[in-house]
Amino acid sequence: MNVLDTAAVKDLKSLYSSREFEEKYTYDKSDLGALCTWDGTSFKVWSPLAEQVWLLLYKTGADAVPYRRLSMEQGVCGTWKYHTRQNLHGVYYQYELFMDQDRVITGDPYARACGINGEKSMVVELSKTDPDGWTQDEAPIRPPENIIYELHVKEFSWDPAGGFPEEYRGKYKAFTCEHTTLNNDGIHATGLDYLKDLGVTHIQIMPAFDYATVDETGGDDQFNWGYDPQNYNVPEGSYATDASDGSVRIREFKEMVQSLHKNGFRVIMDVVYNHTYSLDSPLQKTAPWYYYRSHSNGAAANGSACGNDIASERSMCSRYILESVLYWAREYHIDGFRFDLMGLLDTDLMNRIRQALDEMFGPGEKLVFGEPWSATATPMEKGSIPALKKNAKSLDPNVGMFCDDTRDTIKGHVFEGNEPGFVNGKAGLEEDILKCARAWCHTQVPVKAPSQIISYVSAHDNWTLWDKLSLTTDVSSGLSLEMAYRLAAGIYMTCQGSLFMLSGEEFGRTKDGLENSYNAPIQINRLDWTMAWENKDLVDFYRGLIALRKQLPGLQDKSSRAWLRFKEGFTRPMAAGYILDNRPLDDSQTEPSPWDLLFVVYNSGKKSRTFTLPQGHWEMLADSQNTFLWKNHETVETKSITAAPQSFVILGMTGK
Ligand code: CA
Repeated sequence: MNVLDTAAVKDLKSLYSSREFEEKYTYDKSDLGALCTWDGTSFKVWSPLAEQVWLLLYKTGADAVPYRRLSMEQGVCGTWKYHTRQNLHGVYYQYELFMDQDRVITGDPYARACGINGEKSMVVELSKTDPDGWTQDEAPIRPPENIIYELHVKEFSWDPAGGFPEEYRGKYKAFTCEHTTLNNDGIHATGLDYLKDLGVTHIQIMPAFDYATVDETGGDDQFNWGYDPQNYNVPEGSYATDASDGSVRIREFKEMVQSLHKNGFRVIMDVVYNHTYSLDSPLQKTAPWYYYRSHSNGAAANGSACGNDIASERSMCSRYILESVLYWAREYHIDGFRFDLMGLLDTDLMNRIRQALDEMFGPGEKLVFGEPWSATATPMEKGSIPALKKNAKSLDPNVGMFCDDTRDTIKGHVFEGNEPGFVNGKAGLEEDILKCARAWCHTQVPVKAPSQIISYVSAHDNWTLWDKLSLTTDVSSGLSLEMAYRLAAGIYMTCQGSLFMLSGEEFGRTKDGLENSYNAPIQINRLDWTMAWENKDLVDFYRGLIALRKQLPGLQDKSSRAWLRFKEGFTRPMAAGYILDNRPLDDSQTEPSPWDLLFVVYNSGKKSRTFTLPQGHWEMLADSQNTFLWKNHETVETKSITAAPQSFVILGMTGK
């Protein structure tokens, strides 16, 4: 079958959309793939249009010729199966399918392990891949706030100054190295100790399922973010110390999670279910055009701008994605999922994922959030609702969305290099800044509660915060870049919603003005551990804000009533502020806070602004210079407070 024949694609689309197909071929058991236990191995693949299927077995992932070719038996609902009493752990396999006079050979779309470069799947008895102590591995207790730190496996430890052992640099294994220091000086913490000091609660690992664009047989000079999925249920091989043995990447991924847990972090996985690296994928080869969207004229959909869109709304496809998420949560102990281009998936699927994780692990225990947008529109089947921002009302309140409104209000439009935002000199954003603070609840953005909002100003995409502000801050007019930077952080860290940051934001990370570094050299992308210590003042500033945020239940409140905590909002030209009820919720488990009310002022102007304080016993908590003032519990004696140019001030009123 020619995959580019649009007439054939149209026919397939109408076949798959028919009720008859749905009833005849929807397979609802969770045993697809190769399942291997001590008493045998079962193979099962869903391929409803196949006329014959063979199982090919290989001794290694690099063998060209199979040592066995076994006929598979037709099962129910379009499945094909083979069972043996032998334990085939470590054996590699492919399927050979005959369909409409075509013969294709493919890896298993449901593979749980694979060989080098993911071309051949591998049978794995998963318990054999567990590191010591894995069954006792547990995530740290749920933190008072989600402060998510986005990290790429290779970027984390590649810099030689990080002090990681040579053989682990850029690998999963680097996350198991404790007490690393700058150039091994034994003094300046890098790696896990550095992150612990910083205080972030969740480490979000950029794509680490098996992706296609780094050659696993190739050298260390390759780099890619990894948004090009090849095997959804297998870890990427280039981050393993040995990519050719399919067990090694699984064990080392687990060791990474185990070590992050042990060091106090929850682990979020960046998942890219919206498209695959190419249409020449195991999903396509086993069920042509079932898993992909097409237009009514038979052309492939391209809402991802990556050449194809996964048809999340089809029964077997939504099942595939849901089971994949549950698999990572169960087998790899993943604590949260960040969905790339979530707007290409449908709200029904996202809600089912939320519900299934809640049922399996407890309500809210796992985080679910994503990008509520797509590159362009996608032709979803009728009746399905894309998980876009405008459809937030159709999403579970505990499915989060990256808040582009907050991001762009604070620093300026993400794609426009010359457009500033509030902190870098744009006028007229004072009211919008107050909307950012209450996570856009009860505004033009259809948000149910702060639980749906991720407040942030930097991510792997687009310019780093430093580079964006460098492009847009008019220093010749007397504005300070560093003050704008600190103000940006001060604002989003005092917005409701979960907090998110690109790794290195806390030390002023730069990519030398490069807007899209997805395949740029690792030298540009690596975390620069020397810079982290050169900019210690800025890192300390972030540490203080993070530590303070963990003590502010009024900002942590994710409920639909959280917006009512804003007692008063006020604006001046280039300045805005609010008074917030900071008492903990009666039924919450949050720590009591010393401060019943917060008084927060942001001033992005070149003039100082003075504000009258409501009566009460006020303490200075933080400002643009010092974010640890809260430690002193010093009373503010004056009846008003002045915010210096390009500065913020946070005060707390005690119950005294
Ligand atoms: Ca790969």
